[in-house]
Amino acid sequence: MITKDEIHNILQHYDLEKVSIGTICSHSALQIFYGAKQEGFRTVGICLPEKKFVYDAFPLAKPNEYILVNRYSDLTDSGVQEKLTRMNTIIIPHGSFVEYVGADNIKNRFHVPMYGNRTSLEFEGDRSKMRMWLQEAGVKVPKEYSEPANIDRPCIVKFHGARGGRGFFIANSEEHYKQQLERALKRGVITDEDVDKATIQELVIGVRYYPQYFYSPIFRGEVKAGEGRVELLGIDRRVESNVDDLYRIPRFEEAGVEQSYVITGNIPVVLRESLLPKILDLGRRIVDASVKLFPPGIVGPFCIETICTDELEFVTFEVSARIVAGTNLYPEGSPYSCYLYPKPMSTGRRIAYEIREGISKNKLQYLVS
Ligand code: AMP
Repeated sequence: MITKDEIHNILQHYDLEKVSIGTICSHSALQIFYGAKQEGFRTVGICLPEKKFVYDAFPLAKPNEYILVNRYSDLTDSGVQEKLTRMNTIIIPHGSFVEYVGADNIKNRFHVPMYGNRTSLEFEGDRSKMRMWLQEAGVKVPKEYSEPANIDRPCIVKFHGARGGRGFFIANSEEHYKQQLERALKRGVITDEDVDKATIQELVIGVRYYPQYFYSPIFRGEVKAGEGRVELLGIDRRVESNVDDLYRIPRFEEAGVEQSYVITGNIPVVLRESLLPKILDLGRRIVDASVKLFPPGIVGPFCIETICTDELEFVTFEVSARIVAGTNLYPEGSPYSCYLYPKPMSTGRRIAYEIREGISKNKLQYLVS
């Protein structure tokens, strides 16, 4: 495992006047590059040749430099890493970064300084560690069932891996579970291998809110968390195919249509102001628990997936320990970030701003690993 000392050693050889911000050209890269440029950084995009035109199509967000690779896993090649360190690059991990490069590769073979705490990606990728984190935070989580025989209420059955929410189904008893499982296997949306890794979780009834937070260990103020403060930068919810449009198909089950939860986009939401105390408290709890479980904690952006019940209680079922794609809604700031900063502040820009502050206050070592 690459140690913090090793990364800090590399950082000591960086020219801090010429730091570049880099990431893989996917997920939230446009926002990251745009925000970095707004804060005066040079940017570097690691890109597949066939994707380059997408970034060239948005001149204000396109990276200053490209490193073209045939596969994203090539990022661990020494030549690519050398180029990145020569450009004094700090890498920003996002969802596709973790998925394409692989958590193990990031942990053991990627020696370029990364923004945030590498260990947090481990907690995000491992379901039992994530649950431990949520429980340590003392937030309400959905009940989970180790055996289908114990199902005593409507449950959502989830399968993990690259297919997103395809194959997820709802079951309210063991028998129902077996029927649905059989159907999903027959339709080929899941395999026998997936079945062992299924999560059977209480189906929380309510509406979804996915708050986007930012934890800064170097800024002070409300809301106090860890060594610093947690900020609410925005809220979104996902648009999932086909479940979000099923209301358009009356009696869809009778019509032989199966629901799925494949993410296709995001839409903005704001909360009743009277619910903000709860949402800010959730962010604070998640940070404090992370500092305890994997110091220095979840440095930088993170998001939780919650459902607000009709009793106005938030149930949290997922944490993303890095920038989420829902932040792409707010490249010029959100209905919350505008009360925090006098300039348009996206999450991408907030990351760059934090790195800028880290450099000027000589605190960069607290922000990268
Ligand atoms: P996940 O893969 O855990 O992010 O779940 C994908 C989608 O399934 C979520 O965005 C929700 O729409 C839905 N979902 C997941 N878990 C639950 C739950 N416990 N109760 C209700 N809906 C859920």
